[in-house]
Amino acid sequence: MATTKQDYYKALGIERTAKPDEIKKAYRTLAKQYHPDRNPGDAEAERKFKEINEANDVLSDEQKRSAYDRFGHAAFEQGGGGQGGEGFGSGFSDIFEEMFGDFMGARGGRGGQRAARGADLRYNMQISLADAFKGIKQNIRVPNSIACAACSGIGSKNGAAPETCTTCHGHGKVRAQQGFFTIERTCPSCGGQGRVIKDACPKCSGSGRTRQEKTLSVTVPPGVEEGTRIRLAGEGEAGLNGAPAGDLYIFIAIAQHNVFHRDGANIYCKVPLPFTTAALGGQVEVPSVDGSRARITIPAGTQSGHQFRLKGKGMSILRSKERGDMFVQAAIETPVNLTKRQKELLAEFDGESGNAKNNPESEGFFAKVKDLWEDLKD
Ligand SMILES: [Zn+2]
Ligand SMILES: [Zn+2]
Repeated sequence: MATTKQDYYKALGIERTAKPDEIKKAYRTLAKQYHPDRNPGDAEAERKFKEINEANDVLSDEQKRSAYDRFGHAAFEQGGGGQGGEGFGSGFSDIFEEMFGDFMGARGGRGGQRAARGADLRYNMQISLADAFKGIKQNIRVPNSIACAACSGIGSKNGAAPETCTTCHGHGKVRAQQGFFTIERTCPSCGGQGRVIKDACPKCSGSGRTRQEKTLSVTVPPGVEEGTRIRLAGEGEAGLNGAPAGDLYIFIAIAQHNVFHRDGANIYCKVPLPFTTAALGGQVEVPSVDGSRARITIPAGTQSGHQFRLKGKGMSILRSKERGDMFVQAAIETPVNLTKRQKELLAEFDGESGNAKNNPESEGFFAKVKDLWEDLKD
């Protein structure tokens, strides 16, 4: 499986937007065409058959398909087998899901060694923007299966190696003739494992794994972005028959901040300004993502929408001592709930305006509109 893999959609000859029944149909047609029983001894057909099976495995499963759409083959690179659909107990299903479990039931090919590497697991961690800024070390409790201590993961009571299943001769699948077709299905004697344990270990009932919750310390570096993956090698599901464990991937999500908006290394925020400050000038204090306050000098005549740039006051940058910038956008607030006296003052102010060119923008705008109206007359 080290060869370069073909795109799963191409393998099935379908569009990326294909609906589930289109996938099913394409798979069925191709599976019939390349089935080994129809192409005995044809290595190319066998390769193709494997490929379409693999593609179908992923694309017919909504979760795997979306993982594939997002990460491509990388989503399954380390994908191990393991018991499919085991889940991790109801309370955890929302934050903890088996990511690539049971990927490719035919892993290793027929009759191959079934020392399966443990599945990779995914853990979703949400952190605040402030934590993303300064980095955080956090303990997480992960429900996990580990190699059974009583049998060292072998699954048998006396430490005897599992024997090859006599029903399927180790293939994990059995074939049955049905009309013109040979139907292949999972071996009922060994559940597809290809081997059976005579004397099952009482602690793990022969599965070789036991459940345990473990605490892991996760270090989230400063400057992480939404969707950053942190890999904890070997912290995934335990392997079968002494095979290595899978990896645990921490997927970082950053909670929306109520004041700041982050775009890469930069931080954006909107600061409302009283119209008097905007007109006369003054100073305002704004919070910054590092928890300190920054002072901004507002020049007289500041307009709504004007952006002040605070260099180096933005987000921390991953693996760097640099910081991005902070952009503060002025939002001039029109006063409401005026007292009688305030209204009088503003009326008086308005009376003073006359030809003072207090509002060049408005004047310019109405001049343009006037031209427009003139044009329409022609
Ligand atoms: Zn055991
Ligand atoms: Zn069997």
